[in-house]
Amino acid sequence: MADTLAPVKPAKLIINGEAVDAVSGETFTTFNPATEEPICAVAKAGPEDVDRAVKAARAAFETGPWPRMRPAERQRILWKLGDLVLEHADEIARLETLDNGKPIFESRQIDIHTVAGCFHYFSGWATKLTGDTIPVNPAWFTYTVREPLGVVGAIIPWNFPMIMVGWKAAPALAVGNCVIVKPAAETPLSAVRIGELALEAGLPPGVLNILPGPGSTAGAALVRHPGVDKITFTGSTEVGKQIMREAASSVKKVTLELGGKSPNIVFADADLEAAVRGAYNGIFYGKGEVCAAGSRLLVEKSVHDEFLAKLVERARRLQPADPLDPKTRLGSLVNETQMKKVLGYVEVGVGEGAKLAAGGSRQPVNGKGWFIQATVLSGVDNRMRVAQEEIFGPVLSVIPFEDADDAVAKANDIFYGLAAGVWTRDVKKAHAVSRRLAAGTVWINMYNFYDPGMPFGGFKGSGFGRDLGAESVREYTQVKSVWMNME
Ligand code: NAP
Ligand code: MG
Repeated sequence: MADTLAPVKPAKLIINGEAVDAVSGETFTTFNPATEEPICAVAKAGPEDVDRAVKAARAAFETGPWPRMRPAERQRILWKLGDLVLEHADEIARLETLDNGKPIFESRQIDIHTVAGCFHYFSGWATKLTGDTIPVNPAWFTYTVREPLGVVGAIIPWNFPMIMVGWKAAPALAVGNCVIVKPAAETPLSAVRIGELALEAGLPPGVLNILPGPGSTAGAALVRHPGVDKITFTGSTEVGKQIMREAASSVKKVTLELGGKSPNIVFADADLEAAVRGAYNGIFYGKGEVCAAGSRLLVEKSVHDEFLAKLVERARRLQPADPLDPKTRLGSLVNETQMKKVLGYVEVGVGEGAKLAAGGSRQPVNGKGWFIQATVLSGVDNRMRVAQEEIFGPVLSVIPFEDADDAVAKANDIFYGLAAGVWTRDVKKAHAVSRRLAAGTVWINMYNFYDPGMPFGGFKGSGFGRDLGAESVREYTQVKSVWMNME
């Protein structure tokens, strides 16, 4: 698994248009989970650095050019950043794969295009944000204006490090906010690189700051800071709750995108070959470290055994391999802790009476790494822990159902409500079932698709607020109602 390309240079903080060390001078090391080797040192942001970044972002917002320039100019700069991401695609994708362990196929062929796509798509919103004129009284002129919030703190997880920068920074910046991104300490490198490219694209100093550092210090300081107007967070339910509680004290706006345990429902009348592929990609894409992973596979009883056999056969062929090899489709989990947590769940499932139909073990590549086999647990009951709790790894729980009512009841019998899949050839059933599912996204005869134009976020315990689409643009603005007496 020797990586013969150039060594990775140490990463700094991006504050006020410059790459700088932490005030404390401290650094931390980021690791390659596939080799267990260090990649490079990273400047470790602490509360003083958060304060520096907030002051820079506030100054950029209060007096700098970004919110004041012609929207078409903001649009041009953000579009350029999208172009720069594509120009540096190989380099950024490699950083992402080294840092996270995901296959280069995913980071280079999919994630990069999502990030660039976000900057391109949301750049257009800079010139398209409008208010309304509202007919209240002919004697008055009454209208609304949408204004940016100010300084937005984006706290992002390690599973889609570069994509999350695009999802959160692009819409916030497009409408004139200034942004501070706190990447996960596990995977800081791609965010820092995008922060450097933003300066090249022409973002003024202080408009996009990147602060790698631990959540418990840098993240918490960002949430507490009175100079931050909104926190947009993607990550665990526990930290999400903490952020919501903390934000209450300074009345910050909050958007939370938390976990999921999404049902992928296969009816007997589906195109079963397509559904097998969809079930497989729904859980094994991104090593299953995907908030919307189709981790609960609900299969109609009459086709259950046939479907399971096909899926298991396919899962067994998916072998963990070197993430830097373009042919690899199953990489390393992000770290040892995550691997142990996932293996622990496999044990829990078997203990609860589930059957290990495929995988279930660690499988190092060249003797190293936190790789786990593509794992299928069958005979799962929806009330088991492996059906109710987010495992966040390549582990699928397969649950049989009787009919549409039973499928919907099981699908919705869960704390979460992030996404769901429906596989059927019956158009009426597809839409009727979608309507009844408590989920922020429903995919019909497809799974795990995303687009900058389509909103994404949770129902129920999966959070509130939306990333992407026009919905997310609104979430980074506030409405001002203006009344003028014309008499
Ligand atoms: P996490 O702890 O919630 O981390 C998400 C982000 O929040 C990271 O940047 C983290 O920083 C930061 N953070 C942690 N504690 C904080 C605090 N007190 N105040 C402010 N920010 C804080 O999630 P994780 O540990 O990476 O993953 C744990 C579980 O979360 C996973 O197993 C999975 O179930 C879930 N998860 C969900 C998603 C999703 O997309 N919905 C994504 C990732 C994980 P540091 O990591 O640098 O400490
Ligand atoms: Mg790493």
